[in-house]
Amino acid sequence: MRSSLAVALVIAIAPIVSAQNRREPTVPRGATTGVVATRAELPRTYTGKPTTEAITAADLMTRLYIFADDSMMGREVGTKYHLMATSYIEREVRRLGLVPAGDNGGYFQDLPLFDYSTDSASSIAIGAQHLSLGSDYLVMANAERRITLDGVPVVFGGTSNDTTTWMSPEQMAGKIVVFATPSTSSPMLSNNSAIRARVARASVVMLVSLDRMNAGFRGFVARSQQLLSDTTRTIAPPRVFVNERVAALLFGGATDKRAGAVLSGMSGSLLMHERRAPARNVVAILPGSDPALKGQYVAIGAHNDHVGFNTTPVDHDSIRAFNMVARPQGADSPPTAPTAAQVARIRAMTDSLHKLHGARPDSIFNGADDDGTGTVSVLEIAESFAKAAVRPKRSLLFVWHAGEEKGLWGSAFYTDHPTVSRDSIVAQLNMDMVGRGGAGDATGESKAGERLHGGPGYLQLVGSRRLSTELGDLMEAVNTRGKHGLNFDYGMDANGHPQVIYCRSDHYEYARYGIPIVFMTTGGHSDYHQVTDEPQYIDYGHMAGVARFVRDAALTVANLDHRVVVDHAKPDPKGACVQ
Ligand SMILES: [Zn+2]
Repeated sequence: MRSSLAVALVIAIAPIVSAQNRREPTVPRGATTGVVATRAELPRTYTGKPTTEAITAADLMTRLYIFADDSMMGREVGTKYHLMATSYIEREVRRLGLVPAGDNGGYFQDLPLFDYSTDSASSIAIGAQHLSLGSDYLVMANAERRITLDGVPVVFGGTSNDTTTWMSPEQMAGKIVVFATPSTSSPMLSNNSAIRARVARASVVMLVSLDRMNAGFRGFVARSQQLLSDTTRTIAPPRVFVNERVAALLFGGATDKRAGAVLSGMSGSLLMHERRAPARNVVAILPGSDPALKGQYVAIGAHNDHVGFNTTPVDHDSIRAFNMVARPQGADSPPTAPTAAQVARIRAMTDSLHKLHGARPDSIFNGADDDGTGTVSVLEIAESFAKAAVRPKRSLLFVWHAGEEKGLWGSAFYTDHPTVSRDSIVAQLNMDMVGRGGAGDATGESKAGERLHGGPGYLQLVGSRRLSTELGDLMEAVNTRGKHGLNFDYGMDANGHPQVIYCRSDHYEYARYGIPIVFMTTGGHSDYHQVTDEPQYIDYGHMAGVARFVRDAALTVANLDHRVVVDHAKPDPKGACVQ
C-alpha cells in the first residue's frame, strides 16, 4: 500500500491502525506534485483501550493521545499544564507499582524554578519625559525587590560585545550602566560567569537593543524564569532593555561616547516580583532481582515538557505544507522565503489538506514527537518490566525530566542532585523524538551537509561509544540478537557536527559525570518545534519497534556480569559540552 495520490486523498480513519500492516508510504524526496502524499490519516483526537503488559503500537497511541492532547497546552515547564502532564506520568507509575524515587518518598523531584515579572507600578522618567513599560523599556527581573533610580549616576558602559571598551567593575559600582549593542550582536548581554563578574557591582545594566527584539524575545524577557539550584545566590543587577528613543534622551546629544561618560539622570523605581513556578522531574525505580547487583541502576529517560502555546493562532495545514516544502527540518531549518514554485506547491498542498479535514487555527505546540513519544515509550517499557515475571538483576531508574526545552534543566538538576548515588548509575538510555523517522522525514544532515532521511527501521544512535565502546557494541549486538531489524544511523554523531545533537538532550547531563549513555532518536522532521507536531503524524508501529529495542538493551545492560566498561576520558561536569 504505497502512497498513490488517489489513495492518499481517501480518508480511511481506521479505529485502531494495526501497526504491523501499516506501512510507511514512501514519499518521494522533495514531493512536489502539489498534492500531499500522506498515509491514511490518523484521527485528530482519540481515546484508546487501557494499556497492556506488551509494548504495542495501540498502547503507545492510547498514551500519546492523552499526553500530547491540546488540553495539555504544550506542557511548558513553569505552568499548570506541566503539572497536568507530570501528574499523568505519576498516576501511571503509581498504578504500575514502581518504587517512588523523588522527594520525600514521592515520585516527584521538585526543581527550584522561579518566575520573574515587573510590576506595572514601575516607572522611569528622564527629565520630564516618562517612559512606558513594554514599549520604551523592558525589565528582565531576577529577584523580588524594588530599585530606586532617583539620584543614581547614569554612565555609558561601552559596547556590549566588546569588553575592551568597557568600564572596570569598580567604576560601574552603584551606577546605572548603559551599553550600546551593535546590530550584528545579540540584543542580550552574554550571561557567562566572566561577564556576570564584570557587571556584578552595577545597580542596573541597561542595553540599547529593544528595537531589535522580536515578539518571542520580548515575551521571554518580560516573563523570565530561572532555576536557582544553589541557595547562596548573588543577585545580579537587573537588565533593562531600552529603545533608541530612550538612548537619545540619555545621551541628550552628548558626543562623548567613551566608557564612563556621564549620561542624563533618571527618576522613578523598578518593582520586580519573584514567584515559585511549578517544575518537577518524575522519578521511579524497578528494583533489581540480584541482591549483589540491585544497588546499581540502568537509567532510562525522556523529557516531559515542551514549549507551550502562544496567543497568535496560525492555520495548521498552511504551516504543515509550508514546512514540508520550505523547512523540511522544521525549526532546525533556517527561516526561508519560498520560491514562486514552492509557493504554488504550498498552496496546492494546503488546499488538499483543507479538503481532507477543513481549515483549523492552531497555537498549541503539542510536542507529540518532542518528547511525547519518548515519555510514553519509557512508560510502556516500565509497564512491560513491572508486569514481567522475571526482573532484571540490576535496578531500573526511570526519570522523566522537566525543562529540557529550557536548557536541560531537569536532567542537570537530577544529576547534580541524584536520588540514588550517582556512581551507582551504570548507563543512561535517553529517548527524545522516537515517533517519526519515515522516508519522507528530513531527519538531519550529515556533517558534510547532506540531507538525511528516515526509512524502515530507522533510528539515530548518538553518543553510544563516546564513553564506553562496549555499550555501543552492545547496542549492535542487541539489535542483531533480538532481531529488531533496526537500521542505525550514526550520521548525527560525528565529531564537530554542526547540529551538535549530542549536547541537545538530557543524556548529556549524565555523560558529563562520566556515565555512559546512548541517545536514541528517529530524528528531525518538518513538524519539529511547530504547532503541527501532533499525535496523528506519529508512526506508532515504528515507535513500538524502537521501544522494544530499548527494553531489550536495558535488560541486557542490567543483566551483565560486570558494569559496562568506561574506556574514554570523562568530561568536566561543569565544562561546556563538546561533540
Ligand atoms: Zn526534545
